[in-house]
Amino acid sequence: MTVEVISVGTELLLGNIVNTNACFLAQRCALLGLSMYNQTVVGDNPKRLGEAVREALLRADLVILTGGLGPTEDDLTKETCAQVLELPLVEDSHTRQRIEEYFKNSIFKEIPDNNWKQAMIPEGAMVLDNDNGTAPGLILEKDHRRLILLPGPPEEMIPLFQGQVEPYLQKLRPELIASRMVKICGKGESQVEKELLDLIDGQTNPTIATYAKTGEVHVRVTACAPNQEVADRLIRPVVKEIKKRFGICVYSTKEEETLEMTVVRLLKKHELTVATAESCTGGLVAGRIVNVPGASDVFREGFVTYSNKAKRKHLDVSKSTIKKYGAVSKETAREMAVGGVFATDSDICVAITGLAGPDGGTEEKPVGLVYMACCMGDHVMTEKYQFKGNRDKIREQSVVRALDLVRRMILEQRGK
Ligand code: ATP
Ligand code: MG
Repeated sequence: MTVEVISVGTELLLGNIVNTNACFLAQRCALLGLSMYNQTVVGDNPKRLGEAVREALLRADLVILTGGLGPTEDDLTKETCAQVLELPLVEDSHTRQRIEEYFKNSIFKEIPDNNWKQAMIPEGAMVLDNDNGTAPGLILEKDHRRLILLPGPPEEMIPLFQGQVEPYLQKLRPELIASRMVKICGKGESQVEKELLDLIDGQTNPTIATYAKTGEVHVRVTACAPNQEVADRLIRPVVKEIKKRFGICVYSTKEEETLEMTVVRLLKKHELTVATAESCTGGLVAGRIVNVPGASDVFREGFVTYSNKAKRKHLDVSKSTIKKYGAVSKETAREMAVGGVFATDSDICVAITGLAGPDGGTEEKPVGLVYMACCMGDHVMTEKYQFKGNRDKIREQSVVRALDLVRRMILEQRGK
């Protein structure tokens, strides 16, 4: 089934507000397994809105509109859609009553005249009660054409969609949509896509889609099936194949599990503790670990050793190492990690030192150069990265890679 979204509002066209409704609806429709090929933004103009609705109905089975359902003169979505489908407007006593009740509980003494227009609905429309405003949502069906009209304010639109439109859409489709996520760290999106190309090219059910995140790639496998059991049967072998192809780079297949959750889970499982020694990330790695509930079982201490002096003082990095190799070097990262284990008596310490810019880069050591090291017992792993992007991006990528280094160290030393 194909769907289109029309976002109505001149303020959207002028860039006064961000079109978060379209973003929300696109995500939800994808999860529902609906195919969206077009989205339109149109101002509060009945002629152009009418054209947009007509065009969308030629292409899609279903058109969702947001905005322009309010009581004011420029709110014309309902009137325009009724005209396109050639449906007369009739008063809906249920909605009229709800408007009366809504105002009874409000600060207004009298109901503004123009609010009554919201009780008029296209004949035969399905009314979706709006608990957060006066404009009800509407579903119009005529000759296999479907229009869903929702109010513009997200705090009204989102509950209406989730509470009433989603069940309606699910009923339209006898199948259910189920998906699993494979989360990958340590490969770029194009690389992931290349390695999955044969699977992606041949896909019908389940489908495979990749999503690039900072330092990570998520692969969603989505199946359409009459029930959960059949969906699982379709999804399982594909997930297994993806896991096989990416091996240690796959950190989770759980939708809700973040990289730091995986790290904390592994640390707990193997009864290990971790410390952090950070320079350019300024405590962000420690912050991500502490974000996970229950981190206190595994996290001891974190150092933010930004200056050379601090690296020497807290982590016992030798003066000669810094002098010979520089603060941003493999040798310094290694000594920071080893020093961190000694200073905290933790099982593991991860260290990061790099140039986040924008200043301070040289030809030999450009901005984006980051070294990290992870020490566990007498084992030390080091990594060198050359990240692209601005200061924030470089630091964010460093954090992800540092967390992943801890994960890889545990897997290497202790197994799953
Ligand atoms: P109201 O009864 O408040 O007038 P409405 O259904 O007529 O609701 P609009 O007048 O088009 O909706 O928009 C009202 C407000 O809703 C906007 O000022 C904006 O804050 C929000 N809004 C509208 N459309 C969008 C959108 N596409 N994305 C995010 N917010 C939106
Ligand atoms: Mg309005």
